[in-house]
Amino acid sequence: MSLHRSEVMPDGPAAGGVRALAVVLRTQLRPFLLSCACGLANQGLQIAATVLGAYLVAAAVTGADPAQLWLLGGLVLGLVALRGLASWWEAYVSHALAFFVLAQVRGWLYRAFVRLAPGKLLRRRSGDLVTRAMADSEGLEMFYAHTLIYLVVAVVLTPLPLVALAVLHPALAVAAAVPLALLCSAPFALRRVNFRHGAAVRAQVAEVGNQVSDVVGGLREIVVLDREGRHRERVRAATSQLAAAHLRQGVRAGLESASNQVLVAATLLATLITAAFLVSGGQLEARWLPVAAMLAAGATAPVVTLFEATKVWGITTASAERVFSLVAEPAATPDTGTLSPTRAAGGYELHDVWFRYDEDGPWALREVDLSLRPGELVALVGHSGAGKSTLAHLLLRFFDPTRGQLTLGGHDLRELTQQRLHELVAFVPQDVFLFQESVWWNVTLGRPDADPAAVHAALAAAQAAEVVAELPDGTDTLVGERGARLSGGERQRLAVARALLRETPVLVLDEPVSQLDTISERRLRDALDAARSDRTVVVVAHRLSTILRADRVVVLDRGRVVGDGTHPDLLRDCPEYARLVAAQWSLELPVTPPQPCQRE
Ligand code: ADP
Repeated sequence: MSLHRSEVMPDGPAAGGVRALAVVLRTQLRPFLLSCACGLANQGLQIAATVLGAYLVAAAVTGADPAQLWLLGGLVLGLVALRGLASWWEAYVSHALAFFVLAQVRGWLYRAFVRLAPGKLLRRRSGDLVTRAMADSEGLEMFYAHTLIYLVVAVVLTPLPLVALAVLHPALAVAAAVPLALLCSAPFALRRVNFRHGAAVRAQVAEVGNQVSDVVGGLREIVVLDREGRHRERVRAATSQLAAAHLRQGVRAGLESASNQVLVAATLLATLITAAFLVSGGQLEARWLPVAAMLAAGATAPVVTLFEATKVWGITTASAERVFSLVAEPAATPDTGTLSPTRAAGGYELHDVWFRYDEDGPWALREVDLSLRPGELVALVGHSGAGKSTLAHLLLRFFDPTRGQLTLGGHDLRELTQQRLHELVAFVPQDVFLFQESVWWNVTLGRPDADPAAVHAALAAAQAAEVVAELPDGTDTLVGERGARLSGGERQRLAVARALLRETPVLVLDEPVSQLDTISERRLRDALDAARSDRTVVVVAHRLSTILRADRVVVLDRGRVVGDGTHPDLLRDCPEYARLVAAQWSLELPVTPPQPCQRE
């Protein structure tokens, strides 16, 4: 039996925050109402069984006839059995609901990752993202399986025993209602602290996630550089802060439990004492005394069950905030374009492009006017931080320009569908990511149905065929985590093959900064030559050998284009370029570098 309707919110709630918790349930109204019904049956039968049990005791004490006692006893047993059934059914339907919602939430989070990648995710820590997808999502289970259902049960059931008490005698209802009101107000009085503690716990869980993912990701560097002690200390500090946050949360939750217990006892005592006075004053028959006590207990039971769940309400809301704010976060580059031009890409045109990462941050690019013509190999050069990668990322539409216009083949990038843009432009990043799969799987990632001949041609063009030939299982060889079985140069060439296989008219390549051995470097250069044959190639260039092969070189300095031309022209006219070349020359060739020419 399926409890759930099909998913009707493909991307999740549009607004983040705690309200989204309830909005999600709109798609799951039937299972939610069923869970509430089971919760009501469970708690209602529990109250009915105890009250009837109390009446049975009173009837026995006051000498009722045995047949009536047997009947009452049978009824109590029947109610207890039904209650057991309702309790199991409630656990089943409410958890089925909660885990279905959690699966949906994780699907939305995955979509959010895809929507936000890579632009916005570049700025987030992976540990934090994993924590949101796993631990924070898991934190919502409490709300869907328990909190909301218990709230409905408490609202519906709590008044009923009070009404029954009032029927026995109004004073009994008043005696029970006063401590019950205090019981209900305690969590409200502590709610701000509850929120604060919950937020601190979730934030610290994310921090531990960040530290652990840093350590796991950088384990090689940590060991080689002998920094184990320092990182152990960072993880230890993060985990002890988490323990402290948990402790504060636990102490407050314990205080709430203690106050609940005291006020439950107070409700029972107040009712009993009032009943005792009423009995001694002849205003209440003695046989109603145990019944009154059980009615008072019945009034407190749903409230106490609810408050046991809301003790961690701060954690639930903080988790919801972290999960749904990400689910609702708009993409850096919304996929609202409708154009899907069929002809080849043409070139890029940048008109007065400005870009900054933060609204009030410094400009990473300013006044960029540039033409990248079809079929050209253009090298972007400049000192570290000059804006080369930022410019490459804008060409790939990881971000949109803050000001100005960027067109490809005459169309503003925003007008193209993302899918079409990806069909037109391939990217080889500096830090290539290979999945822990076979070489074939990784190379065909962007075109899984590629013809084998095309795959081999791409491997050959990217100078990767000989890499594959030396692997034990050829293209079936597993590359290890992040391609650990391969060298940096080999990984890079596989990434070039992956990009070439997509047969896009434009290729953007971020050259590795790390030193490659001479053979790897030559191979990569040859791969670049193969790539340029019929494409526009934009390469963030760090090596002189690459720069010298470019048709044109664009020099960036603090976000501005300070030179644009051929190598000899720039060497003559652009002192910034000449200085860069001189510096690079001294690194790569131990001969006298050319001297910078001065501008007239
Ligand atoms: P390059 O590739 O030439 O080394 P970048 O394009 O990476 O330079 O950086 C240009 C400027 O933008 C630098 O000042 C850098 O600090 C800043 N920057 C780069 N990436 C980010 C980011 N994700 N968030 C904020 N600032 C960034």
